Amino acid sequence: MKVLGLSFGKKKANSDILTKEALYGAKEAYPDAEIKFINTQRLTIDRCIGCGACVASCKNASAMLFTSAKIAHLNLLPQGQPERSKRVLAMMKQMEAEGFGNCTNQYECEAACPKGISVDNIARLNRDFMRANAKEGLCF
Ligand code: SF4
Repeated sequence: MKVLGLSFGKKKANSDILTKEALYGAKEAYPDAEIKFINTQRLTIDRCIGCGACVASCKNASAMLFTSAKIAHLNLLPQGQPERSKRVLAMMKQMEAEGFGNCTNQYECEAACPKGISVDNIARLNRDFMRANAKEGLCF
């Protein structure tokens, strides 16, 4: 059994404390359970507001930061696992179809993002994309 505790409040604030208390209780009740705690504020994955500033600031008009933030938002949650590979391939394919440019690691998107979304999400997306291609077959 796996038990995941998600805290949506500030780090080390009441939400963290209450979530951890619940996880301690779960561990007592199910000693063999795999327990994991995540404060979502640290993930910077669910903050993309779709403003497009990242695309506008990129000389290639790449949408990799936006797409990677949206994919990470769903792929890192347990509920997003069953469709993980298909989601990555479908979103990458649509990005290609819409004519966005390629990422050339200029980092202008990260500097322009008003929500502080990191280019680390692009690296994660590239790893997910390679895994998805291996699992589902090449989509491009
Ligand atoms: S600039 Fe940031 S918040 Fe706006 S669309 Fe791009 S990733 Fe999302």
